[in-house]
Amino acid sequence: MLQQVNGHSLGTDAQCGEPLRGDLQDFLGGETLLYQLDDLTKVNPVTLETVLRCLQARYTTDTFYTNAGCTLVALNPFKPVPQLYSPELMREYHTAPQPQKLKPHVFTVGEQTYRNVKSLIEPVNQSIVVSGESGAGKTWTSRCLMKFYAVVASSPTSWESHQVAERIEQRILNSNPVMEAFGNACTLRNNNSSRFGKFIQLQLNRAQQMTGAAVQTYLLEKTRVACQASSERNFHIFYQICKGASANERLQWHLPEGAAFSWLPNPERTLEEDCFEVTREAMLHLGIDTPTQNNIFKVLAGLLHLGNVRFADSEDEAQPCQLMDYAKCSVRTLASLLQLPEDALLETLRIRTIRAGRQQQVFQKPCSRAECDTRRDCLAKLVYARLFDWLVSVINSSIYADPDSWTTFIGLLDVYGFESFPDNSLEQLCINYANEKLQQHFVAHFLRVQQEEYAVEGLEWSFVNYQDNQSCLDLIEGSPISICSLLNEECRLNRPNSAAQLQMRIESVLAGRPCLGQNKLSREPSFIVVHYAGPVCYHTAGLVEKNKDPVPPELTGLLQQSQDPLLKVLFPTNPKEKSQEEPSGQSRAPVLTVVSRFKASLEQLLQVLHDTTPHYIRCIKPNSQGQAQTFVREEVLSQLEACGLVETIHISAAGFPIRVSHRNFVERYELLRRLHPRASPGPHSPSPAKGHSKGPPHAKEVTLQPLLRDILHTLPALTRAAATL
Ligand code: ATP
Ligand code: MG
Repeated sequence: MLQQVNGHSLGTDAQCGEPLRGDLQDFLGGETLLYQLDDLTKVNPVTLETVLRCLQARYTTDTFYTNAGCTLVALNPFKPVPQLYSPELMREYHTAPQPQKLKPHVFTVGEQTYRNVKSLIEPVNQSIVVSGESGAGKTWTSRCLMKFYAVVASSPTSWESHQVAERIEQRILNSNPVMEAFGNACTLRNNNSSRFGKFIQLQLNRAQQMTGAAVQTYLLEKTRVACQASSERNFHIFYQICKGASANERLQWHLPEGAAFSWLPNPERTLEEDCFEVTREAMLHLGIDTPTQNNIFKVLAGLLHLGNVRFADSEDEAQPCQLMDYAKCSVRTLASLLQLPEDALLETLRIRTIRAGRQQQVFQKPCSRAECDTRRDCLAKLVYARLFDWLVSVINSSIYADPDSWTTFIGLLDVYGFESFPDNSLEQLCINYANEKLQQHFVAHFLRVQQEEYAVEGLEWSFVNYQDNQSCLDLIEGSPISICSLLNEECRLNRPNSAAQLQMRIESVLAGRPCLGQNKLSREPSFIVVHYAGPVCYHTAGLVEKNKDPVPPELTGLLQQSQDPLLKVLFPTNPKEKSQEEPSGQSRAPVLTVVSRFKASLEQLLQVLHDTTPHYIRCIKPNSQGQAQTFVREEVLSQLEACGLVETIHISAAGFPIRVSHRNFVERYELLRRLHPRASPGPHSPSPAKGHSKGPPHAKEVTLQPLLRDILHTLPALTRAAATL
């Protein structure tokens, strides 16, 4: 059952009349008034230009949040605005009878979501999808929501017990600095860029108190540990250790003052994220004690020394490459920090073990210098990725709530935004694929399903065109043949010259697909995918290898020999899963590729989102320099286009945002009907439906409109009466 209430919730005077539209004509002479439009659905006409002008007008008056129908647009202020996030303001939004009547804010979304969970109409799990490009403010916004829930959904604990027991909300908040220290890095576009995707489920009990949380991460950019683009940095934690360690710790971890590490570029730049103490403190609160922390930092210091290991070309192919003189000390230090036998370490880095033939005979082959470098990098990535996953599992066990202690959850999704660089590879393919999936979810939820439902209900409605990205998703992941399947096939075939082979296969097998293009200007083998947010050219060089993500079994074997307590946990001798390991010799056990694993985790995420009521926050970056008070129109415009905001506004403006199943509606408002017999449903009204139908309501429910109208007119008076009680 749907009732048009012009973009707001039921029960307010203004919502029953005509929408408050701001005709642009009224504003052309007086631009200043534009900033007063707190919902972009009120801009008239809704075009990219008018929406842009409205956002700009609001930005110049330090108004950073604007509603866009069912989404919230958040402009990054790029300056501290403490009064906007104070606990007092949180409480104001939390206690307001109608928070949506206050100024648009991330707290409105937070509160609305919180109320939906406990709503007696249809308590259902909620999710908030925070999207936007790198540096737009997704992580900031998610953190802000977590703080909001930590205040409004905290369990009532007395001051004494607050002192004794570490509160769960605090532990959940403490997961942020730890995950950011290990998973964020300074990039060209954001000093604190998240290099992984994150979905956190905040779990609530029947009393609406947060009892725990669960974090799921996606696709950590582990290559960064061994390879950083120029002017970018490694993960924050490495800088934190080097800057924050005490003299004694420096001695233990072999990090003398001023030591140069090739995997620690731009150490002279100091960021506010470089605070070792904050990370250590947060780890402590999460139950990671000081000895364990020291163990972690010792291993990370070892990785820095690994980065300084260099080999010389071998003149004789039958002989292993020699270590550069200056790297001998690094290997010794590395072996001692990681508690590994030095000869085994050197052998693993320089000699490849091959098993071949029926008997699986073992051969040893010295690696070329390039292969040695690859193995060195692979060792670092392997250790770092396992360490990160282990940390996430430790965090989860620290904030975990017993399944019996919670009934509903609010999920916060902070994933990397759409990316397009001059050189795009597997990381961008996965990231953009994830964004296509989320966009489809958004389109399906707000645009397509809504309009289809109007048609079923026989409501008067002129259809809004929206960009359906199904064909792009078919191209990337569709069955039986898609870019992913061809990429996996190339991994299986293991052919030489796989980059050119892959390009040829994509061009021939997928020819004619609507979202596939060719880059005629590129000399490198490549292909173009026309994403909803714009075309992206992917280079196929290295794509197959990255997708295989091979881990030579000798590397894992080496780490299993370590006497270090942490490495013993990260690399147990009887590992449960060996999926990433290279199949040795001819045994071709099916290997799970990066895209296959990513696709599976994405499907799981989408399933979770699908079972919740989603809310969307679109973060917008007003300029790429990160400067306050600077609104670069072209840059904002391309972000508005990329997220299809205008289409969203059109549909929200004309749409029916309140959706209540017939049964719940009747159950809730039955009393009003009895109070106002005039509002009786009449002979055509349907009998209350059985069960909580989530599907499109039956067409005959439309006949309830007279009843609805009466009830809606009664509601404001009742609300006012209730408020005076
Ligand atoms: P990435 O995809 O690279 O992780 P992101 O969208 O998560 O980027 P954030 O790290 O959240 O971006 O934001 C970038 C920076 O912008 C923050 O470090 C902070 O300085 C600033 N910022 C974002 N939102 C706000 C805000 N509401 N108030 C003040 N500063 C903000
Ligand atoms: Mg981020």
